[in-house]
Amino acid sequence: MNEKTVHKFTYGLFVLSTKKGDSYNGCIINTAIQVTTSPNQISITVNKQNYTEELIKNCNKFNLSFISEDATFDLFERFGFKSGRDTDKFADMSNNDYKLSGNGIPYITKGTNAYISAWVNQTIDLGTHTMFIATVTDMDVLSETPSASYSYYHANIKPKPQTVKSEGKVWVCKICGYVYDDAKEGIPFEELPDDWVCPLCKHPKSDFELQK
Ligand code: FE
Repeated sequence: MNEKTVHKFTYGLFVLSTKKGDSYNGCIINTAIQVTTSPNQISITVNKQNYTEELIKNCNKFNLSFISEDATFDLFERFGFKSGRDTDKFADMSNNDYKLSGNGIPYITKGTNAYISAWVNQTIDLGTHTMFIATVTDMDVLSETPSASYSYYHANIKPKPQTVKSEGKVWVCKICGYVYDDAKEGIPFEELPDDWVCPLCKHPKSDFELQK
């Protein structure tokens, strides 16, 4: 079985946002799709480790902002590589870069081309992830810039890896570019431990490669 087959799936990229009381949170997902047109329903799948997953279970509504090709890496850093449990991702965000929709939840206006507001009508436990089936309550197009695909992000938005000079082994995260230089970090890894996760984006060992 060829593990790389799943890389042939086409994925979009989205900021999924919701709220808890007066505070907001969001994360980046690549698993959103329209599932029926009448009624207009979408499905999203969210890792249970994301704080946003927990908040949507309580709030039952969310916004989905469609990331476009003019998005910059800081959008991914803000929503993809930090946890809302530790930081308020909207606190230092410019008021010009998001707006509140009718449901009181923010959607992103910079580096995005559309948004959808939805309320959850079904929650499906998938083990590591939760799938939410939701009815669209509002939506709008924000720009005509094409949507960014997952492969577009890798080719054009993610910073190109800098070659690190090291006496030891250098492991690079293919998702966010995080570098583990074992000569610097103090723990030399002949091989990364199996339970290794990227400290920045939380992706597993399989997303790391050894710098040549
Ligand atoms: Fe990473």
